Amino acid sequence: MHLAVIGGGIAGIAAAWKIRQTGAQVTLIEARPYLGGRLTSHTGADSPTFFDNGAHLFLSTYTQSRRLFRSLGISNDFEYPWPGAIPFATPNGQRHKLQEWPLPSPWNFAAGLLGFTLLPWPSRCRTVAASRELLSIRIDASLSAGEWLSSRVNEEEQNLFWRPLIRSALNSDPEKIPVKYLQTIFREGFCRGFFGGRPGYARKPLSKIFDKNVRQVLTDDGIEVILKSPAMGPIIEKNRVTAIRLKG
Ligand SMILES: Cc1cc2nc3c(=O)[nH]c(=O)nc-3n(C[C@H](O)[C@H](O)[C@H](O)COP(=O)(O)OP(=O)(O)OC[C@H]3O[C@@H](n4cnc5c(N)ncnc54)[C@H](O)[C@@H]3O)c2cc1C
Repeated sequence: MHLAVIGGGIAGIAAAWKIRQTGAQVTLIEARPYLGGRLTSHTGADSPTFFDNGAHLFLSTYTQSRRLFRSLGISNDFEYPWPGAIPFATPNGQRHKLQEWPLPSPWNFAAGLLGFTLLPWPSRCRTVAASRELLSIRIDASLSAGEWLSSRVNEEEQNLFWRPLIRSALNSDPEKIPVKYLQTIFREGFCRGFFGGRPGYARKPLSKIFDKNVRQVLTDDGIEVILKSPAMGPIIEKNRVTAIRLKG
């Protein structure tokens, strides 16, 4: 059997790799000139410095992703410092770290929030209280995260803590996502298990990991990788998909 996987982001890479393990022939088709999708990096016009685009943070609770990274042999390209820390920066240049404490979850995170000096004391307490509520089951899942937060924390707390957290973890603004997504991040991402989710970081630019190392692993394993080829649709003959039509 010959299978085509369309899209060479992390989901497509995982699918192609998994299918290949079954012995099937696999072709991975990607529209862009590189693998990785949103897990990529860019350099400035006059600068050799790499800026990662997506997934700046890999939590230790991403068990499926970590299993995939082990299987692809790229685990060493990521580090999970302990105790962990999440850096924050404000538009006026203030910097701070949300520093994990060496305590079991969720106390490691709660203690970190109490030490989050970008916010004054009463705000830190409100942030801990809202976080605690997110871990409980009694939450009105019909609300957006923005609606839910607006009755619990003030604007400064939203702007300095919740908004950056939601943007980086959920790729969206609080007003646009249901609060249950935020709850999932807290329950499954930050606070699952004894240690909770330790923040992990890529040791190299994401494009070096996913477009270089992973591409090499896939092709060495016999997966055909086709880049710069947007898939336009299937070609169907006698009720069977016999090929994928590519642009150009
Ligand atoms: C700024 C930013 C920050 C983020 N931060 C984090 C973070 O800190 N932690 C975290 O866990 N996640 C983070 N994310 C989210 C994470 O990067 C994405 O959820 C993940 O990379 C999505 O992977 P994917 O394979 O589903 O999709 P994508 O990465 O979007 O891959 C889809 C691929 O399919 C290709 N494609 C689409 N249509 C076709 C077609 N017709 N033919 C061929 N190819 C096609 C696209 O070109 C693309 O390469 C962030 C995302 C962004 C943008």
